[in-house]
Amino acid sequence: VDVGALLDWYERGHRPLPWRATRDPYALLVSEVMCQQTQAARAAGHYERWMARFPDAQALAAAPAADVLEAWSGLGYNRRALALQAAASMVVRDGWPRDAAGLRALPGVGPYTAAAVAAFAWDEPVAAVDTNVRRVLERHDAVQRSPQALAERAAALLPPRRAAGFNQAMMELGATVCTPRRPRCERCPVGATCAGGEASVRPRPLERFEDTDRWLRGRVVAAALAGEALPEAEPARMRRVLDGLERDGLISRGRDGSVAPP
Ligand code: SF4
Repeated sequence: VDVGALLDWYERGHRPLPWRATRDPYALLVSEVMCQQTQAARAAGHYERWMARFPDAQALAAAPAADVLEAWSGLGYNRRALALQAAASMVVRDGWPRDAAGLRALPGVGPYTAAAVAAFAWDEPVAAVDTNVRRVLERHDAVQRSPQALAERAAALLPPRRAAGFNQAMMELGATVCTPRRPRCERCPVGATCAGGEASVRPRPLERFEDTDRWLRGRVVAAALAGEALPEAEPARMRRVLDGLERDGLISRGRDGSVAPP
């Protein structure tokens, strides 16, 4: 990946998402938790209303739970709002953790969210691998990797002191150019080194909502909350969904393969 070309492309223009301009870890945590299940463009309006109502961790920690849930309304998975409030309370009590590893001790914060907040707020040299970044790297390298190998590949690309820009640029590339169905390879800043290109995108027949990972994610989270058995699904698909939910801090997995709320 030509990281220099990627950073130049990002700096020349990107979506003006409201959390892109801040280095406030609280604001970044709010935005990342909102975007766990909601598209960034749709989360933006919720984010601005939330920040006007709960501008910092103190305000959120002190708010009645009913107000928090009301402000979250429309984003779904209310547990995330309550976990965010619990995280704000811990921050008010103990101060902000020092790094991504410390952030993971906060309720509802998985490896991806911790890496994103630490990189964006503090330029900590950690790579945040979400589904967009996974797709870009899989296509670019024409290799499918385990979550661990993927994290190592992304970490190896991190430019010195540019972790925030690198992570933003990779996510932006996956969200706007290297999109799931129709990547715009002709506009891609890393196209010159891409091994896959458009040929790596297998045409897929139109799928039913029940066949999407998004649907399965919702079913798995609901089953974990209710303490019920997981829905039936093809093993590779289930593994991918469980890996993603764990990475996003929405479930935790026991050694015996059981799934529970985080
Ligand atoms: S050239 Fe195409 S497939 Fe490769 S990273 Fe860019 S948009 Fe994705």
